[in-house]
Amino acid sequence: MLVSKNVEELKPYQPGKPIKEVERELGISDAIKLASNENPMGSSPKAIEAVRSILAEANRYPEGGCYYLRKKLAFLLKMPEESIVFGNGSNEIIELIIRTFVQPGEEILYFDPSFAVYPIIAKAADRNYRAVPLRPTTFEMNVDDMMDAIGESTKVLFLTTPNNPVGNYIPYPQLKRLVEEVSTDILVCVDEAYVEYATQDDCRSVLDLIRQHPNLVVMRTFSKAYGLSGYRIGYAVGSAEIIGYLNKTRQPFNVNLLAQTAAEGALDDVEFLTASVENNSQGLELITATLDRLGIGYVPSQANFILIHTGGDGSEVFQGLMQRGIIVRHIPHPMITEYVRVTVGTPEENAQFIARFEEVMRQLG
Ligand code: PMP
Repeated sequence: MLVSKNVEELKPYQPGKPIKEVERELGISDAIKLASNENPMGSSPKAIEAVRSILAEANRYPEGGCYYLRKKLAFLLKMPEESIVFGNGSNEIIELIIRTFVQPGEEILYFDPSFAVYPIIAKAADRNYRAVPLRPTTFEMNVDDMMDAIGESTKVLFLTTPNNPVGNYIPYPQLKRLVEEVSTDILVCVDEAYVEYATQDDCRSVLDLIRQHPNLVVMRTFSKAYGLSGYRIGYAVGSAEIIGYLNKTRQPFNVNLLAQTAAEGALDDVEFLTASVENNSQGLELITATLDRLGIGYVPSQANFILIHTGGDGSEVFQGLMQRGIIVRHIPHPMITEYVRVTVGTPEENAQFIARFEEVMRQLG
């Protein structure tokens, strides 16, 4: 056999359908994509400007360790420069963490459903993985369930908060307790891809716990609130020891010049970030008010998407919306097959979504 049993069995990650593909299939030019939790406001104008200004400089390799970007981010986060490492999207950070800290025969734990990439990467790298189910009905990520699941070979816990695809979160005091109680031989990796959108007081970053807990790593991304998905850049913050190991195992120029430059510009653009977060809060408010009015269930969200209960087969609602040029996500997971996940759009996109969603729900009766 050319590949391992694990690779043979793997199912590739299924991203949301690209907008151009849907437009071609439907013969339209105005499809709306609310499927991949991207920023509907575009990218920061400062990021775009910064990228324009360095286009002619790509004959040189980029900064290997993202020197200038790291300096800027360290200052903003009030963390030492040696406690940050960047990746080609936080997806690459996930891969680095698994390859670096989990040896073959050892395992990662993660809540299920949460981000689908953790088990895919573990399996591809011949590492073991074990899912801790969310609590039924409430979808709660119960930290005691996670701690009880820890076994002899557990090396890394992935905690996604706010959780994709659910939108709920682990309250800060519970995360803190978990970090305090877990053995220091286990890496606790908190995936904060959506944390910028959070509005609840107890839905907040655990960056402040890193100093006391050298086995805690926080992952963040520029793909969501910063609007830079297409550039591919994310980062991890942790103790100098942990980040030092990741620096040993990452590729020399893992983050390209355009991505580094765009991220620097985006960090300068507080206005764009604030507007993106504000647009999201208002969009969520509108969508949830509409669902309340229609008597349709959903999971309250702290992210830039919402999991909506269709009351039937979610894939039918997904299809109905798709036929109307609106791309959302139906996730083939037994716990959420009756749901669709919808990314918050611009006010116009949200209005379109609501109108078409009502139509589809009426039609499906
Ligand atoms: N973590 C979570 C929870 C996500 O939802 C995503 C993107 N969908 C990522 C990480 C990866 O983000 P990126 O690789 O674009 O930085």
